[in-house]
Amino acid sequence: KKDVDNLIGIHCIAHREALAASDAAKKIPELLFVEKLANKFKMVKDMQLNIKKIVNLDDLAAGHNKRRIIQQAIFNELCKMMDPGKTPYTPKKGRPNVIMFVGLQGSGKTTTCTKYAYHYQRKGWKPALVCADTFRAGAFDQLKQNATKAKIPFYGSYTESDPVKISQEGVDRFKEENCDLIIVDTSGRHKQEAALFEEMRQVSEATKPDLVIFVMDSSIGQAAFDQAQAFKQSVSVGAVIITKMDGHAKGGGALSAVAATKSPVIFIGTGEHMDEFEIFDVKPFVSRLLGMGDWSGFMNKIHEVMPTDQQPELLQKLSEGTFTLRIMYEQFQNILQMGPLNQVFSMIPGFSAELMPKGQEKESQARIKKFMTMMDSMTNDELDSANQKLMTESRILRVARGAGRAVKEVKEMLEEYKRLGKVWSKMKGLKIPKKGDMSAL
Ligand code: GDP
Ligand code: MG
Repeated sequence: KKDVDNLIGIHCIAHREALAASDAAKKIPELLFVEKLANKFKMVKDMQLNIKKIVNLDDLAAGHNKRRIIQQAIFNELCKMMDPGKTPYTPKKGRPNVIMFVGLQGSGKTTTCTKYAYHYQRKGWKPALVCADTFRAGAFDQLKQNATKAKIPFYGSYTESDPVKISQEGVDRFKEENCDLIIVDTSGRHKQEAALFEEMRQVSEATKPDLVIFVMDSSIGQAAFDQAQAFKQSVSVGAVIITKMDGHAKGGGALSAVAATKSPVIFIGTGEHMDEFEIFDVKPFVSRLLGMGDWSGFMNKIHEVMPTDQQPELLQKLSEGTFTLRIMYEQFQNILQMGPLNQVFSMIPGFSAELMPKGQEKESQARIKKFMTMMDSMTNDELDSANQKLMTESRILRVARGAGRAVKEVKEMLEEYKRLGKVWSKMKGLKIPKKGDMSAL
């Protein structure tokens, strides 16, 4: 029972539901606060109850991996929380579908509008973009630039300051031109302001969108609940897109956005480029949220880039949990071959942040290669030993001399080995899904 409470505590409270609630207390009138508090705690309470129902530790025979069972239960509960039980609106062929994007400034609306348009354009749709952001200077230029790049028709104005008028004109024009996916990009503010929500309400009334998409930055955390709720109160949000999932943020705020809007997440943004956009998949998302890494993404990548005959061996090693320097060496080799490095790394729990900081892929690659040359000066015994104490000062000195590197550098490599070993050992006993069978997670 203590374990369950602890783990639930770690995972739920770590999402700072409780903290956010007490923070909110400072900002909002009491009545609203009580209601919100109940809402927020209810999410946590429900989850706790469900997990306790599922995991009855007293009934488990000795030898069961309790931690894993609890993790699995939490995993399933979080997956459920990401599913509001409602399928999102999908554009219908043969008619103009109007999609309106809302979100605070900087959340990624304009970028995401183009990605969304481009995604459908590649599937044979005829999208068009309308810039109803008259608030930010340069907003129209930004949309124009994106749209031109993707060869998508656009509409906007440098002089007209009424977003309602522009959006209506734009939507009407593209309806006449038989576009079947008319996307309305709106303005944002840095804060949630009454004027913004009134503007959203009016634009929505004028354009009658089939779907309103709430765009949120993956790093906003608990602010997501209030933000999403505020938008939901002025326009009928029907779907959520999380942006900047290529960064370090895990996107936990999405749980709150889903709860506040009762709408599903449909896509995630994974970069600044047009094609860095993925259909939302709940399991890899939740794995990442729990620090379990994006296993299905990782596995797919492995299946994609690794010779089939080498796969079982790697997976076997992973599930055994023993991590030797030779394994690290082989993994470095694999990683160097795997293409867009940062993507692969971000999928492996614990590997990404330090080993491969974003924007420093070249340097990181050089560092990995340097590590590998040092390992080339090691003996087979050293490479194959699982004993981390084997590398004594004298051995370190020998390796440093052999590789023409400083002792400090060899130690740095061994530190990395220790760190990755910790990550690796977490995978022990992991049931690794086969391609196309991610349900084993
Ligand atoms: P808006 O104010 O809501 O329209 O936000 P923008 O579309 O202008 O985006 C704000 C910033 O976030 C820009 O610099 C974008 O390039 C960046 N951005 C948007 N989506 C992503 C993403 O998925 N990943 C990354 N790394 N950057 C993004
Ligand atoms: Mg914008």
